[in-house]
Amino acid sequence: MNNQNNRLAEDRVGKRARVEAKERAILAGLNVFCTKENQLWTKTESMNELSSLAKTAGLIVVETVVQNRSQPDPSYFIGKGKANHIKDLAEQKDIDVIVFDDELRPAQARNLEERLGVKVVDRTQIILDIFAQRAQTKEAKLQVELAQYEYLLPRLRGWGESLERQAGGIGTRGPGQTRLDRDREKVQRRIDSIRRKLKNASMELDVRSKRRENSKIPLVTLIGYTNSGKTTLLNKLTGSEGFEEDKLFATLDPLTRKLELPDKRTILLTDTVGLIRKLPHQLIPAFRSTLKSARTGDLLLNLMDATNDKLVARWQVVNKILNEDFFDDNQSRPPMINVLNKSDKLANGDELAGIENEIKNSIVISAKTGHNLDKLKEYIGDKLGDEIKTVSLQIPYAKADLLDWFHNNGEVSSEKYKTKTIFVTGKIEQHLLNKLQSRVSDGELQILSAKASG
Ligand code: GDP
Ligand code: MG
Repeated sequence: MNNQNNRLAEDRVGKRARVEAKERAILAGLNVFCTKENQLWTKTESMNELSSLAKTAGLIVVETVVQNRSQPDPSYFIGKGKANHIKDLAEQKDIDVIVFDDELRPAQARNLEERLGVKVVDRTQIILDIFAQRAQTKEAKLQVELAQYEYLLPRLRGWGESLERQAGGIGTRGPGQTRLDRDREKVQRRIDSIRRKLKNASMELDVRSKRRENSKIPLVTLIGYTNSGKTTLLNKLTGSEGFEEDKLFATLDPLTRKLELPDKRTILLTDTVGLIRKLPHQLIPAFRSTLKSARTGDLLLNLMDATNDKLVARWQVVNKILNEDFFDDNQSRPPMINVLNKSDKLANGDELAGIENEIKNSIVISAKTGHNLDKLKEYIGDKLGDEIKTVSLQIPYAKADLLDWFHNNGEVSSEKYKTKTIFVTGKIEQHLLNKLQSRVSDGELQILSAKASG
């Protein structure tokens, strides 16, 4: 028992409470009545999602237990009675880990682990674990590590203390400093150091996205709920071999491929990490950075699983996450096509007729069979717009680099040097115009014609 406790405690003060492949798990959830969440999502759905997460992390899901309560129990989350029930079940079924569907408070996790006698992890830890397994690039790895330490920091208390208790105190205290303090300082130092490294990594990324911006190739970003088929679509459209499987978060680092549209234009298509409900807040920065391409892109494809009966609800969630967490305001969000995927699984198309009306700018496709993909490509072309606009610009001398940018990206027809500004007229493609608009202030840019050409 002492050995086991030791191991549990070590898990906590280590980088993460690791789950190991092939560990046998019970999933435990709490169904709280009358929450807003219940109107949009059923507990069953949430538990199914947790099950996918657990399997993705490598666990064997043996049983699922859901407790109904009007509110979480402060000490045992699901309540002492249900905890006892799970303890018996865990003994009978030779269980290694109990996975809770919500983020547990540090004291709840500790109480539960003591009562249950097996490892307790929560949804956040499972997601962090998957991210840690999947991160490939330097930035993604740093982001995940940061999120893990941030999750760990407030939880050090209990575990630090229990380590001290076990070790009897002697030899575990530095002069005037407890082991807990030392652990905390260590973690804080680590967090600071990761933050510094991330700053550098993100500067590198900016340079790369600048380079792309100069290349004039429109960038289309696949976003959407996890498991909706983003990677499958990227592969089907571009004939590339991504990492596509029936797992959540199979993709953490964005993958970009070239795609030729029916009008012979080349665009870049980028896959991103899937969005998910109850996203651990520690991971929002990681998501933000993987979705950076979405922010600087020209068009978003929001992929959705059309067979899900909560399709409209999910669409709303994705919209909300995008608006609140990823785009500072609606204006900076590029146009979006809602792509309803997996049409091959629908018995008849009629079910979708109503949904297509409800979800604007939508198109029904199957990434698997290729159904409607030509239409999607045309739609992408339309949305990107090959319109050339004639504009006039008053560029303050402080922003003279915009003139170079215009020369490189558009067609300058005249430039006049005035006292305070450079007055430029010229032609520019619609998608580049959007970029230009984001860089100038009110009144500096005037669109003279919206004539389509070519
Ligand atoms: P992602 O998480 O959004 O990247 O989703 P994936 O591309 O990894 O796909 C998740 C699962 O959905 C995989 O098992 C795919 O084979 C499956 N899938 C993707 N598109 C379709 C489709 O059009 N029809 C069907 N039936 N399954 C699909
Ligand atoms: Mg994917």
